[in-house]
Amino acid sequence: MSLLSEKLYRYDAARNARAAGIYPYFREIQSDQDTEVIINGKKVLMFGSNAYLGLTNHPKVIEASIAAIRKYGTGMAGSRFLNGTLDIHVELERKLATFVGKEDALVYSTGFNVNQGVVGCMTGREDYIIWDELDHASIIEGNRASLSNKLKFRHNDMESLEKQLQKCEPDKVKLIVVDGVFSMEGDVTNLPEIVRLSKKYNANIMIDEAHGLGVFGKNYNGKGVHDYFGLTEHMDLIMGTFSKSLASIGGFIAAEEAIIDYLRHNSRPYIFSASITPGATAAASTALDILISEPERVANLWKITNYALDGFRSLGCEIGHTSSPIIPLFIRDNEKTFIITRTLFEEGIFVNPVVSPAVAPKDTLIRFSLMATHTKEQVDIALDKIGKLFRKMGVLTENVEKA
Ligand code: PMP
Repeated sequence: MSLLSEKLYRYDAARNARAAGIYPYFREIQSDQDTEVIINGKKVLMFGSNAYLGLTNHPKVIEASIAAIRKYGTGMAGSRFLNGTLDIHVELERKLATFVGKEDALVYSTGFNVNQGVVGCMTGREDYIIWDELDHASIIEGNRASLSNKLKFRHNDMESLEKQLQKCEPDKVKLIVVDGVFSMEGDVTNLPEIVRLSKKYNANIMIDEAHGLGVFGKNYNGKGVHDYFGLTEHMDLIMGTFSKSLASIGGFIAAEEAIIDYLRHNSRPYIFSASITPGATAAASTALDILISEPERVANLWKITNYALDGFRSLGCEIGHTSSPIIPLFIRDNEKTFIITRTLFEEGIFVNPVVSPAVAPKDTLIRFSLMATHTKEQVDIALDKIGKLFRKMGVLTENVEKA
């Protein structure tokens, strides 16, 4: 065994879980991705998807994607900068900018690339990036790529944010970067207070709307958390992904023209990686049209989300501060989290285990997520199985167990 494999062998938690028969990852889906999927030839209810609007198998989205492949081909053999810009890329950028209420937008091949490529190049050596400790891994990668000073604040803790802002030199750029909806715990960033502090300390704000797009916004418009709070004009940069509500892959950044033009010529994943494929571009664009023209989908998502939230609360599950279709069921123990994931899977319920480093080891959880297309009957089945298993494993909150 080489030194490298010996070293990696020592740290392989995955191998231990496999040996214990509780390895919960890489389950192969053999069907389309609706609220029910087929895995190992067996139907399971899908409560682990980010396709919040249930659009991945919408006929119009599929047809648009096929038509784009027929017209433009399957792949882009170059980056946007050189030979990789299509008319449908530019059209989608205009549509997205108008949708979120900014002057311009850029489309990247993945949401991960957006955060890495924007956070990584917006600020200089003497400037500051101030970020929430539960921000997505792609923002953290952006931090790593950036030469700026990085200051982390405690999750959604505004005193902690203010303390970090006080440490910054007043005449340097200060970019606050937050998730609109936190991807693992489903809680929403305290945007009104962040905006207030940004004014007080002359800071800029970038919001990641990966899980806000298609979910939050006034009158079910799905524009995101910035719109829900009516604070769009105070966002310097709005980021979103196509891999969740928009049923595709890719992502975007929207901002004023000068910022977008800077990114267009400086953001490395935009310049040095092949551009988003025609099929993915057309799928995202059509899913966005459906989101705009059918707000009832967002309304349905909220109906089923509220139904599930009530259900988990009355079961006595610990669900933290979520107020979104992402429902964390805190287990606070790695092994139990894996066992529960596995057992529920055997009983026909797909949920995702979330362990360190995605969350702190003491905060391990089962991530249960909803789609607009889930029915109450499907949620009832899940609640019943989860309630019974959690009771047996002793992971319901004490108060409710005593009641
Ligand atoms: N930001 C957040 C908050 C996310 O949850 C994710 C993906 N889970 C990303 C960015 C990256 O997006 P993508 O999967 O589209 O690359």
